[in-house]
Amino acid sequence: MTTEGHICFAISNIILIKKTKLIYFITSGDWWHVILGSLATCLLPDIDHPKSFIGKRFKWLSIPIYKLFGHRSLTHSLLLIIIMMIYISISKINVPIDVIYAMVIGYISHIIADMLTPAGIPLFWPYSKKFSIPIIKKSNIRLERLISIIIIIYAMQY
Ligand SMILES: [Zn+2]
Repeated sequence: MTTEGHICFAISNIILIKKTKLIYFITSGDWWHVILGSLATCLLPDIDHPKSFIGKRFKWLSIPIYKLFGHRSLTHSLLLIIIMMIYISISKINVPIDVIYAMVIGYISHIIADMLTPAGIPLFWPYSKKFSIPIIKKSNIRLERLISIIIIIYAMQY
């Protein structure tokens, strides 16, 4: 999925969750908090690739992660999400709770979006089996936008 596709998908997902009242802290949260929170992390899983949008900006981090684990491994797994959630719950981060939840949703939206491509993701990494629901055959920004628009239109029904 393209960088723009991940951004569109994150925004549409956070709107869907807010409008459908799926998660209390998102529903009750400030619109700016949840949109910006999801945008802050929606590209983060690709820190494992030095040529990705975020990898280019944090090469000092992306190159070692890429060499250690490769692309679409640890950063695209449930394991890292669980580790992040444990860290967030035990640490005293001075960030509004709606922003924290939106950041987690933004991160998860990236993983779901990558799962929509044929390459899939190793959801249960280090178990290497890749999971995929290959709706987006190759980077197709029009289809990525269309999926995001459909999600937003569905969300607006609530
Ligand atoms: Zn990715």
